[in-house]
Amino acid sequence: MASHLHGRLSSPRVASRHAARSGTTRKLDLRTGPPVWTAYPAPAVPAARLKRDVRTEVLVVGMGISGAMIAEALTAAGFAVIAIDRRGPLQGSTLATTALVEYEIDVPLSVLSRTIGRQKAETAWRRSRLAVANLSARIDELGIACEKSVRLSLLIAGNRLGAGGLREEAEARRAAGLYAEYLTAGALRDRFGIARAGAILSPGNLALDPRKLTAGLFLKALERGARFYAPVEATALETGREGVDVATRAGPVISARRVVLATGYEPMSIVPTEGHSVASTWVIATRPQKRALWPEEAFIWEASDPYLYMRATVDGRVICGGEDEDFSDEAARDALIDEKAARISEKLSKLLPAIDPRPDFAWTGAFGMTSMGLPVIGTVPRYPGVHAVMGYSGNGITFSRIAAEIVRADLTGSPDTDAVLFSFDT
Ligand SMILES: Cc1cc2nc3c(=O)[nH]c(=O)nc-3n(C[C@H](O)[C@H](O)[C@H](O)COP(=O)(O)OP(=O)(O)OC[C@H]3O[C@@H](n4cnc5c(N)ncnc54)[C@H](O)[C@@H]3O)c2cc1C
Repeated sequence: MASHLHGRLSSPRVASRHAARSGTTRKLDLRTGPPVWTAYPAPAVPAARLKRDVRTEVLVVGMGISGAMIAEALTAAGFAVIAIDRRGPLQGSTLATTALVEYEIDVPLSVLSRTIGRQKAETAWRRSRLAVANLSARIDELGIACEKSVRLSLLIAGNRLGAGGLREEAEARRAAGLYAEYLTAGALRDRFGIARAGAILSPGNLALDPRKLTAGLFLKALERGARFYAPVEATALETGREGVDVATRAGPVISARRVVLATGYEPMSIVPTEGHSVASTWVIATRPQKRALWPEEAFIWEASDPYLYMRATVDGRVICGGEDEDFSDEAARDALIDEKAARISEKLSKLLPAIDPRPDFAWTGAFGMTSMGLPVIGTVPRYPGVHAVMGYSGNGITFSRIAAEIVRADLTGSPDTDAVLFSFDT
């Protein structure tokens, strides 16, 4: 139970005037084109209009997968939660995700060890592994129907890591206590029908429908009394001794003891963003073709730049993405959809000739990254009571789970021992 945050919520507005203020928010065009998830029905998440000032223990800003995991975790811990979103529930990047929920961080363990030191790198990788396992268990425990299936993952040799680099990486993972099997070119061809110089095979990753999962988590929070308001945009924060006042664009103020900013790739201006960048990425999904799929429907991703990655949906569509570009200009990004879809389709066909690679869906989106490939999670410097959660990179969903665990631990008064690795001070 959330001991020290329970109790009377006096208004921070009247309690303190030595407040810190922030007054701007960033708005991106997060995605363009219909993501494949729109082909499958998902439960609606009801959100009310915000007509007057309200007060709560915890305000979660952002109703994507990060906000959902946090709202679920905090209501389970007994907190009163309000969640808001300026677009509406599930309208941000979460709808565009390809939802390969993996513990394999974008930056290989052997490379990350050289950058931040072996101990920290191993901790980050192990924590990712734990987060995927915990998420899987939580989905089962809550009975959320989100087409979850446990998948192998194949990291195949490419222009970034060849056979030698992959062997070294597999070794580093095993030394950290993580199962990693190196497959020679022959073993890869015999078991998966893929012609590459080698691969690392990892178990225990999750394929799921992100819309169903996100909706399911919000609906669990709703059952426990959470309140959702949208469209509501947080425009400014004022922190004081008693908590935080959040101004909204339409006028009403939300007062909370704690605020969690889960705003995806659109950080509020109080959130430091050094080392972060926003790039562009493209994805296709084919028509269903269950019989043509590759063995075990393992996730496949190339150790290349630009990379290619793929998974299958429960009805046998192939989702394949990549072709990232460093720029975030939305008009330029959108203008490339046809060209990038054709390129991804061609690469898919080359790797897996049995697949009909023609796109049934093609979409593009903004994609946030950090230089280390790790998320940033923690109290915003100089804003006590305000947490920010930025589950950037290709493991955004895994990182959302880590964020929910860290925020919950912090708010319940038993801080997470790994929190320092992801904090703003790191
Ligand atoms: C094409 C693509 C493929 C991806 N593939 C994968 C993958 O395979 N595996 C994986 O783990 N991750 C993947 N990711 C990353 C993953 O999708 C993201 O990390 C994740 O969806 C982010 O969730 P979020 O809740 O933080 O952000 P969002 O879903 O964007 O939610 C944030 C919400 O905050 C709201 N908001 C912002 N500012 C304000 C404000 N001031 N006031 C009120 N509301 C506000 C927005 O409207 C938005 O709805 C992919 C991303 C993309 C784009």
